[in-house]
Amino acid sequence: MVPIFLAAIAVTTFFEGGSLGRMEQVAPAHVQCAVEGQSDQDGRNRQANWYYFRLDGLPRTEIRIDLTDLEGEYNYRPDSYSVTPRTRPVYSYDNRSWRHFDNTQVTWDDARKHLILRLTPQRGRIWIAHAVPYTTAHLFRLRREIERSPFAGWTSAGPTSQGRDLPLVTVAEGAPPRAVWLMARQHAWETGTSWVIEGALRFLVSADPGAAVLRRRFIWKIFPMADPDGVANGKVRFNAQGYDVNRNWDRPGSASTPEIWAMKRAMLAWLDSGQPVDLFLAMHNQESGDYLDGPEGPLATRLTAALARTASFQAETSPRKTADPKAVAAGRMMVHQSLQHERSVPAFLMEMAVEENRKLNRLRSVEDNLQFGRELVLAIGEALGEGK
Ligand SMILES: [Zn+2]
Repeated sequence: MVPIFLAAIAVTTFFEGGSLGRMEQVAPAHVQCAVEGQSDQDGRNRQANWYYFRLDGLPRTEIRIDLTDLEGEYNYRPDSYSVTPRTRPVYSYDNRSWRHFDNTQVTWDDARKHLILRLTPQRGRIWIAHAVPYTTAHLFRLRREIERSPFAGWTSAGPTSQGRDLPLVTVAEGAPPRAVWLMARQHAWETGTSWVIEGALRFLVSADPGAAVLRRRFIWKIFPMADPDGVANGKVRFNAQGYDVNRNWDRPGSASTPEIWAMKRAMLAWLDSGQPVDLFLAMHNQESGDYLDGPEGPLATRLTAALARTASFQAETSPRKTADPKAVAAGRMMVHQSLQHERSVPAFLMEMAVEENRKLNRLRSVEDNLQFGRELVLAIGEALGEGK
């Protein structure tokens, strides 16, 4: 008797940022992968758009991977999907260089709300993720690079829920009279914004004459990863206690939201010591479309105009005027609303799409995001009347 085995495809998420729900092999070359998703502290607002997993034992024939269990809720609105028919996940054979699944490889089962991926693997092992991963290990490598600069300092604003450092990076040359604060990764799944921050930081410490102008005119205070626990644990948009790091700015708690507590304390201490914040910007990713949201006025107009000249920012619907913070329900205030409302800071929020970019006519690559980081700090300098 010769035993017959179903060639088994194995799944693992046992690495930083890894996440997947249940995987079921339904045929030799067909697996169903439930996306784990994450709900908030009340079990509401489930969002299911972070998955990052490795498959081993793949056949060299076409395989089919169904992403399932995608239904979510957004701002208490049910029937919300953050994986959509236009989602194009990424894959890698070495967990370092990534490419998007192309349009011929992705279909959407609208009846079951499944995203179906098809691929003929070149190797027996593949990594798949919603967007190109950017973990605390990536940030640590960036730190070693940035700390070699005489213009950069890297500190912790405080411990996170799970005791990780909450990084705060400062770039300046001499004693600049003005200050810009930036923030990324309030939501762990939004890896694109980390690539943007990496591009911004590398440019700011560079020998480029434009970078020298920016760091002589502005102190750059940057929170590159506002929820390192969520990033490390492969979560979606809530901290280790389930709190949304871009809500709750009206009532941060040292136990429930230590990340907000630490960042808000750092910014208020800065303002209370009489130092300026000429511009604050929190960066986010969403499914489709880009926009800038902030206080009405010439700064918003100038920043939008400068962003419109970048290679990838889709500026048609910008600027948007921030909703009146007084109308925000308790516990739902975002960082830029809080800074506008409590301290009259010119505070903005930026959304950048992960789906196809209409300016580039393709999906944003890592290189596009790195380049946008450079363009972004130049655009900010220009909007504030410095630089070019
Ligand atoms: Zn976000």
